[in-house]
Amino acid sequence: MTTARYFQHGDVAVITMDNPPVNGLGAGLRQAIADGLTRAGRDATVRAIVLTGAGRGFSGGADIREFNTPATFAEPNLHTLIRMIEDSRIPVIAAIHGIAMGGGLELALGCHYRVAAPGAQIALPEVKLGLLPGAGGTQRLPRVVPLEMALNMIVSGNPVDSSRFAETRLFDAMIEGELVEGAIAFARKVAAEDKLPRIRDLKVDYPNAQGYLQFARNTVAAVAKNYPAPLRCVEAVTAAATRPFEEGMAIERAGFIALVESPESRALRHAFFAERAASRIPDVPEDTPMRPVKEVAVIGAGTMGGGIAMNFVNAGIPVRLLEIEQAGLDRGMATIRRNYENTAKKGRIPADDVERRMAMIRPTLSYDEIRDVDLVVEAVFEDMDVKRVVFQNLDRLMKKGAILATNTSTLDVDRIAAFTRRPEDVIGMHFFSPANVMKLLEIVRGEKTARDVLATVMKLSKTIRKTGVVSGVCDGFIGNRMIEQYSRQATFMLDEGASPAQVDRAIEKFGFAMGPFRMSDLAGNDVSWYIRKRRYVEKPEYKYSAIPDKLCELGRFGQKTGAGWYRYESGSRKAIPDPVVDELVAKHREALGITPRRIGDDEIVQRLVFALVNEGAKILEEGIAMRASDIDLIYLSGYGFPLYRGGPMLYADEVGLYNVLRAMEGFAANPHGDPGFWTPAPLLAKLAAQGKGFND
Ligand code: NAD
Repeated sequence: MTTARYFQHGDVAVITMDNPPVNGLGAGLRQAIADGLTRAGRDATVRAIVLTGAGRGFSGGADIREFNTPATFAEPNLHTLIRMIEDSRIPVIAAIHGIAMGGGLELALGCHYRVAAPGAQIALPEVKLGLLPGAGGTQRLPRVVPLEMALNMIVSGNPVDSSRFAETRLFDAMIEGELVEGAIAFARKVAAEDKLPRIRDLKVDYPNAQGYLQFARNTVAAVAKNYPAPLRCVEAVTAAATRPFEEGMAIERAGFIALVESPESRALRHAFFAERAASRIPDVPEDTPMRPVKEVAVIGAGTMGGGIAMNFVNAGIPVRLLEIEQAGLDRGMATIRRNYENTAKKGRIPADDVERRMAMIRPTLSYDEIRDVDLVVEAVFEDMDVKRVVFQNLDRLMKKGAILATNTSTLDVDRIAAFTRRPEDVIGMHFFSPANVMKLLEIVRGEKTARDVLATVMKLSKTIRKTGVVSGVCDGFIGNRMIEQYSRQATFMLDEGASPAQVDRAIEKFGFAMGPFRMSDLAGNDVSWYIRKRRYVEKPEYKYSAIPDKLCELGRFGQKTGAGWYRYESGSRKAIPDPVVDELVAKHREALGITPRRIGDDEIVQRLVFALVNEGAKILEEGIAMRASDIDLIYLSGYGFPLYRGGPMLYADEVGLYNVLRAMEGFAANPHGDPGFWTPAPLLAKLAAQGKGFND
């Protein structure tokens, strides 16, 4: 495969990188650039070289298809290429359009000159993967743009428009017309000047650089608490400002090596790849034809229906909203309006957008008005009989080929599909509350769901800016099935001696956005009570702590009733520990004859997280999840699992499955709780015995 083209234009050689989609600097492309440089260098008729990119931009940096493979480091590597350019007898000019990011920008910084088209996006995004730019970016960028600007770019990773560099030394010229033509003309001009300027020879020019950098270090340290990369970036940029070039390069290199090996970077890279992997479904090829989705109906305008409708409207897809009675419809529409008005008040959408968006929702009480939409999302009461009536109606009335989705959180999607004569058109779209905010969308694949329905909904999840992850059918799907085990462990620990606040504090210190008791107070303690009551009938062998039921019997449903595991002052969401709960817990322990013991934070964290891991292993083994990284993605995007730990399954891999298993054996010896709880999932035991991880 040719990854770069070489073309001679009179006395100027043009090397065009051509490695779709973004000219990723993989081994093949690097070799092709090196070959082009050598060829031009040996050709006495060539007086300058233009390096440019075909297609969408100059270069997006490292070729992610090569990530974690030896090809990343194969010679010629990026350092070698830059050295070749710096040693060139004739000037090399980077001609930039579209994007110059990461290694792509570093390569350009190694050139003698750079010219750019307006509108190109310039960035060093390595920090987003927990790394720092490792090919001189931290040393060269501050030498050509103001120190503060360079540091911001490196620490944030965010792109900056090329026009903003007009006054800096990053670009020697901005080219308005045809880029390569302009670059060739520029190359002829500089070739005549007979100079070979190198950024490495410049000095960082900034008044009181030391003072500014100290201030920056303090700010970054406070903001980036759990992430080591941003501080390493500051350190490398500080070296650029205060030390000779080669020393700075050594500091950058040391930082890069330390970060590549850091668990935080591994976690961020894992999350990055998890997101890409999630949309690949092995038996649904990428070229599966999609069904068009131009208009959507949402059934039920309650808590979920309203938020779901907003998602489609926000993506420009009109919605018809169907309710059973006018009052429900009015209430639902009023809530949606209030949400949009609040967003406008915060300045996140223009004020006149409120009306424009509201006009895209057509409220109705009649199925006749929704029969020709392409997709229906049902969000009515969580009751099989109610769902049956709705799906029978849909089956009777909807046009052929319409996708029929349910937002059920606990009911069997296959049974719902069986209410229709078209189960292949039925799928679960499990949104999370608040549905207009939460990123996660579990896409539940029924036994008979058609492949094109699955492919369409997966693509649609991107259109409405959700993180779509496929789950098979089981009670609770992936996320809630796992969280149930986590919640059970949390309450067993109350039986044994912990307080809700202690459990929450320990797991929040581990990095969870919210501990289990605060979360339950937010979601409503009655929701899990309802599920438990069903379990008592369906799975009597399943053990729960009785404390949550006692709490609910007092009407303490959480924030909405002003009291739950904590108490809440009116209008406030602040969780205040409540002696009433302490007393309830103490009485319960007394009744069970348990002498409370102090449970350490480590034990709390391990019991909660390993409860997730063990259930996750079962889910993986049963094929409910396609891959471990899908489970991690669900926990990162829907359950507040700390991003820098990469999700429960990666965390278990980091701890080592053998160690996870040993800890579980220890917990199994505990006389309280459910004796069967810690029986290891066969997959976990098998991988641990093989010395492998879930993500290997
Ligand atoms: P809700 O009670 O707030 O809203 C349900 C709405 O459906 C009500 O407005 C009701 O009038 C309407 N409705 C009832 N029967 C209807 C019918 N036959 N036709 C049309 N409309 C009808 O409930 P919710 O919390 O929005 O939950 C809806 C669904 O979403 C449930 O299946 C639930 O399990 C699921 N879900 C809820 C959450 C959550 O956190 N609330 C999260 C994920 C999924």
